[in-house]
Amino acid sequence: MELQAFIRTIPDFPKPGILFRDITPLLANPEAFRSVLEAMSGWATEAGAGAVVGIESRGFLFGAPLADRLGVPFVPVRKEGKLPAARLTVEYALEYGEARLDIHRDALPAGARAYIVDDVLATGGTALAAAKLVELLGAEVVGMGFLIELEGLGGRERLADYAVRSLLRLEES
Ligand code: AMP
Repeated sequence: MELQAFIRTIPDFPKPGILFRDITPLLANPEAFRSVLEAMSGWATEAGAGAVVGIESRGFLFGAPLADRLGVPFVPVRKEGKLPAARLTVEYALEYGEARLDIHRDALPAGARAYIVDDVLATGGTALAAAKLVELLGAEVVGMGFLIELEGLGGRERLADYAVRSLLRLEES
């Protein structure tokens, strides 16, 4: 399926110079959405995933139905301050400034085989922070799956320690 047709590119959102990749047309097309979930479930099954970790917020859109398909737990990694119970936090660098991601301390047992999912891989900083959280819990990152990989931002290089898969590779600009 030609998935690129379902990605809408919006220039200068949320700020000047950013080419925002809007996945809402894909979510609105049941065949396109299903084909993404099928690909991701193939990757995660191949990786022997025992849990799916979704990154807030668009990673939840793929991660939760993926976990349901695989019959494994879904674990949210959230932006700072949203998770209510005891949590671990990792700080990571953004283009300007820094951000934090949280995971619940009891989200994964030690040794769990976690598959990380998000919509877009750009610089890789967010996925790397999610991987650190999984590893701080003593669990293992068995792979990472993205709908879109933005080329030329060094994401894949930054995530060189992990098995990274993506369905669409797009130019950064
Ligand atoms: P990064 O940490 O640089 O890999 O950025 C990845 C995160 O930012 C993901 O959660 C994406 O949803 C979001 N993101 C980064 N760049 C874009 C973009 N051009 N369009 C849409 N989302 C983006």
